[in-house]
Amino acid sequence: MTGVNTLRPAERLKIPRQQAIERPPEERCRTFQEVSLGFDEERALVEASRCLECKDAACVKGCPVNVDIRGFIELLLARDHLGAINRIREANALPAVCGRVCPQETQCELMCVLGKKYTPIAIGKLERFAADYEIRHGLLLPPPRAQPGGEQVAIVGSGPSGLACAADLARLGYRVTIFEALHAPGGVLRYGIPEFRLPREVLDLEIQRIEALGVEIVTNVVVGKTATIDELFEEWRFAAVYLATGAGTPHFMGIPGENLVGVYSANEFLTRVNLMQAHRFPDFDTPIKVGRTVAVIGGGNTAVDAVRTARRLGAQQAYLIYRRSRDEMPARREEILHAEEEGVRFILLTTPIRILGGPDNRVCGIECQRIALGEPDMTGRRTPMPIPGSEFILPVQTVIEAIGARVNPIIQTTTPGLESDARGTVVTDETKRTSRPGVFAGGDLARGGATVILAMRDGRVAAASIDEYLRARRQAAHPVGAAAGNVG
Ligand SMILES: Cc1cc2nc3c(=O)[nH]c(=O)nc-3n(C[C@H](O)[C@H](O)[C@H](O)COP(=O)(O)OP(=O)(O)OC[C@H]3O[C@@H](n4cnc5c(N)ncnc54)[C@H](O)[C@@H]3O)c2cc1C
Repeated sequence: MTGVNTLRPAERLKIPRQQAIERPPEERCRTFQEVSLGFDEERALVEASRCLECKDAACVKGCPVNVDIRGFIELLLARDHLGAINRIREANALPAVCGRVCPQETQCELMCVLGKKYTPIAIGKLERFAADYEIRHGLLLPPPRAQPGGEQVAIVGSGPSGLACAADLARLGYRVTIFEALHAPGGVLRYGIPEFRLPREVLDLEIQRIEALGVEIVTNVVVGKTATIDELFEEWRFAAVYLATGAGTPHFMGIPGENLVGVYSANEFLTRVNLMQAHRFPDFDTPIKVGRTVAVIGGGNTAVDAVRTARRLGAQQAYLIYRRSRDEMPARREEILHAEEEGVRFILLTTPIRILGGPDNRVCGIECQRIALGEPDMTGRRTPMPIPGSEFILPVQTVIEAIGARVNPIIQTTTPGLESDARGTVVTDETKRTSRPGVFAGGDLARGGATVILAMRDGRVAAASIDEYLRARRQAAHPVGAAAGNVG
């Protein structure tokens, strides 16, 4: 399909990148309502018309799941919005999520040729527009239910990696069960990313659509405790298992004062609010206490989510303390900007060295030290070096640490023969096979903390490998009758 865009390339270059509609900072920083409202149809069409329709679309290579970006933008321009979302869904089972949370600036949009001299196409906002159009018009119809006839596959963990794997396997005709330790599915999408970035009804609808493919989600099951991997094979009769349990165990800095009342890991803080609805206490059982002044330590998405959540819970002053510069913060650019607009104060090139407590054992301050950046380390990032004599104290009542997370070892320690590295991440080959036959792994469990879309890519790669593995097994069991192709 070509020729939908009637503008000449020179005319397209003159159109500025369209800005999403947003709730004003003063209105939004006290509510959990979504901040970015995306594009209306008019803006989406103008933005889509900027696309140069490159023959060899570099943006597609920048997308970890290779969404046909050029193709869906052409469909939008032709006002076939449902065609556009269906095109996206061929590669991405969670488009309304990814259109909101993917770091497009380091992926597809980074590769957009327009970005070399002008500003790249707002691919994420266009993806979101297509997904929201489907939801807004009540058109998010369950796909035709597959007739599962294939082997049973167990998926452990219902985050983006497990969900992406489940969607592909169900489409291939396998009977898929996802086991989730928590009482609600979604992984970090539910317990980590706040509602003001990803409304729960959007997440619920995307998950329902995957369930409509025939995927069963069983919550409150801790694999490794409720049932081991060996039991899933031997007693529950699963033919293959995909491990996608994420990296939800928080790291602490190991500085004095971390045991004081008022110190949280970001993981606990965000889970209390997002999953347990602590901000609605006493209507919900779980409480949360946030002081007038809050310091969040870290520079990633988790830190920015925590500090913006603290503002919404009533913190008058919210600091984000990060040891490198603003440009080196791993968080999405849009979230950094939104945090600044909401009055968060960034204390950069600074590291905490001690949390101070009062006689009541509660946090009353945090001692910090200024940092200079040295030579780049092995990862290419400049090494933070504390500046002697630069210490200072910041009075705060709450400290939230968001300096990274590790994988939970429960499955590794209860599964003989499952190889993991020194950090506990499960070792896989590029097809996501582990050292145990029939067991595959991906997402943060195998990467040690990455992004939604990389976790989804792993899920898709694993689904293809599981299919290949089960076909080979079928072939070996029934050399004549086991035709290749859909098992359903
Ligand atoms: C606060 C926060 C904000 C983030 N923001 C962004 C963002 O804006 N953009 C982005 O791309 N990435 C972001 N990330 C990173 C991204 O969310 C993760 O990389 C991604 O969710 C990993 O997906 P996953 O499926 O591997 O694991 P998870 O999402 O962690 O899901 C794992 C699931 O497995 C379950 N589980 C664990 N152990 C067991 C067990 N033994 N039995 C059964 N179930 C189990 C867990 O309860 C969880 O539901 C953010 C992360 C955090 C913490």
